Order: sequence, then C-alpha cells, then structure tokens
Amino acid sequence: MPLKPFTGSFTQQEALDDNVIAAAATVLKSGRLHRYNTAEGELSKASELEQAYALYQGARFCLACASGGYAMAIALRAAGLKPGETVLTNGFTLAPVPGAIASAGGKSVLVEITADLVIDLEDLERKARSTGARFLLLSNMRGHLVDMDRLSDLVRRHSMILIEDCAHTMGAAWNGRKSGGFGLAGCFSTQTYKHLNSGEGGLLTSDDPDFMARAILLSGSYMLYERHGAAPPAEAFGRIRLETPNMSGRMDNLRAAILLPQLARLENSIDRWNERYLAVEEGLRPVEGLVLPRRPEAERYVGSSIQFRLPGLSRQGAEALVAACKALGVELKWFGAADPVGFTSTHHSWRYVDPQLLPQTDHVLSSLFDMRLPLTFTVEECRHIASIIAHCAHGSSPSVP
Ligand SMILES: *Cc1c(COP(=O)(O)O)cnc(C)c1O
Repeated sequence: MPLKPFTGSFTQQEALDDNVIAAAATVLKSGRLHRYNTAEGELSKASELEQAYALYQGARFCLACASGGYAMAIALRAAGLKPGETVLTNGFTLAPVPGAIASAGGKSVLVEITADLVIDLEDLERKARSTGARFLLLSNMRGHLVDMDRLSDLVRRHSMILIEDCAHTMGAAWNGRKSGGFGLAGCFSTQTYKHLNSGEGGLLTSDDPDFMARAILLSGSYMLYERHGAAPPAEAFGRIRLETPNMSGRMDNLRAAILLPQLARLENSIDRWNERYLAVEEGLRPVEGLVLPRRPEAERYVGSSIQFRLPGLSRQGAEALVAACKALGVELKWFGAADPVGFTSTHHSWRYVDPQLLPQTDHVLSSLFDMRLPLTFTVEECRHIASIIAHCAHGSSPSVP
C-alpha cells in the first residue's frame, strides 16, 4: 500500500504568540530599542533577559549579544586567546564554530567524533597532549552530550580552558548540571532554528567576573557596563576598561523583549520536543540496519532534531534514501554528500581551516542522516514521518544476509 505523503514544513517554526507580540509592541512604542537607551532608573529589556537567563542557567553572569557565533568568538578573546593560538574543537559541528575560532584569530585543530556523535575523548586526550592547546571549544552538536564527568576530568588534567557551544543544548543537562556550566563559559544561540527564536541572537554565561567583564567590554558597552542585568561589580572593569577593544555585537531591546516570554515557556517546549523525538525514535527503532545514537542515562536532552545512521549504505543508497523520503515530503539531511547543502557542511568544506585527517569522523558522517523536529509538527505527524523513513530505509538498505 503506498504511503500517504507528509505535507508539513520542516522549516516552519511556531508562530510567536500574543504575549510576545505585545512585548515587542511595547518596545517599539517606546522608541528605546538600543539596550543603553533607558529612562532614569529603568532596567532595559536586554538587562532583564540577562537576569532571567542567568537564573535559568544557574550562572552568576550573562551577556546578551548578537549571535551564538559572536558569543563564542568573544568568549575565546575574553578567555585570553592569542593570535594563531590553537583551539581544539569537534570535527563534526556547524560552520559558525570554526568560524568563531577564525574570527578570534585562533587555529582550529579538529577532534574526531564517535558513532554517538560526541567528541572522541581518546582523540581529544591525544591532541591535547600533542598540541598542548590551552583551549577547548566543545560543541554539543545536535544536542548530544559527551560524558561530561570524563570530559571535565580530562580538561582539568590538561589545564585546558573549556568553552561550551550549547546552540543545541539550551536546557539540556548532564547528571542534573546544565549544559554550559562545566567550564569557563557557555555559549547559546537564539537564531530561529534553536530553542528560543529571535531570528538572530546569542547569550554568553559564566561564573568568572574578570572573564565576563572583558566579554561585556568587548561586546561594545560604551562604558555603560554598570547598566547590565547580570554583570560583575564595577571593580571588575576597573583595570581593563581602557585596554579592551569595542567589537560591537550587542543585543537590542526588541529581541530581548520577544525572548523573555519564550524563556518562561522553555521547559514546556522541551517536553514537547522530547515527545516528538520519542515518537520518531520509536518508529525508527525496529528498522533493520538503522542505528540510533545512544542517549545515556545521565543526559537530559532536548529532542529538537533527530539523527540516525545506516552503516553499510552506499553513496547511491544514501542519495536514493534522501530522494525517496523527499518524494514523500520528509526532508532528511545527509552528511556524506561531497558538497555542502543547506546547513550540512563538513570539515572538508571549511577551507579556511588547515586540512586535517579525520577518518573516523568521515566514516560516521558518510552514513549519518539528520532531521529537524519543529514544534509545529504534532506527535501523530512525527509517527507518520517515522513510518515514511522506515518504509524508504527498508527499500534502500543493502541486503542484509
Ligand atoms: C546555530 C549554531 C551555532 C550558533 O549559530 P549563530 O547562527 O551564530 O547564532 C553554533 N553552533 C552550532 C552547532 C549551531 O548549530
């Protein structure tokens, strides 16, 4: 029996509700869109967001800024990265990560990933030793958390500075500790496809007052750092206020205003994402030859996307699967393609980074498929999507003896 095609849109986010629209209208009517354009004694929306996010994250300090990529770049600078200095990072991540390292003047050394899509701790250990790198920009790509206890131990043993890319792990946790709270800083994105949607935007969190003071100055504080919502005391700025360049990348009040009501609902959104994730996972589990990444007990994840592998599928087989799913309305991304499509670039297309050999990562990516799960899909629709993938995977899988 032919399957009914799926007709939903994989790029359709939820509409922003009346609370959000009202919050935006209030800012627009005030005319005070710049974060430092406040009335006497008024706390700006950007500052209010910093307070609310610091509280949610359990961090002492928070800076609202222009994007997740910007948060990572100024985190590296504020942490003391020197021009040309090595930064270790995952061999599988999104382009803004090596891009942030490049923009901060660093040199990316890429670390292999495992079949569970997390950084390979053995390769990390090897490269920490061989490079002597001071920095690890850990990317929790597609929301998968490595064993953070082992990672923290490794970082400590090598005296590395850990900065976490939490673009896909906002709200996630390891053994009850929030992702982004394991090292010097956590970097978050509020770009449309992440867990909060302001089109573009970023949040940087830390417990370190000197680091956060530098980050705030770097973000372009015009010496108005005392007006921040979750900033260290004025003393922390004293020595560095005239030495730190202004690299404007602030968040404006309009974005902050539309993020605040979304943040209040984030836990609810996470539950809804996970219901959808589980529905797809359940539908894919019985498919012969299909491997789902392991989700450890200690990990609290946010299922805003799902990944699976079909090891043993040929290049033609993978292309055929993507095409068959597409014909039935299901948009899969395949990370094995030679040329980057949409958001699926691999380290081979980051030509601004020195070419590096990552055979294990390449092997994993050659059979890796990825799919977004927007909250506009119902759980029932997620079951439908899974049945389409199962059907197409069955048709395209190599004959398993
Ligand atoms: C989206 C994303 C970022 C940050 O992206 P911006 O577009 O700069 O906000 C960082 N890392 C990963 C893995 C991402 O997917």
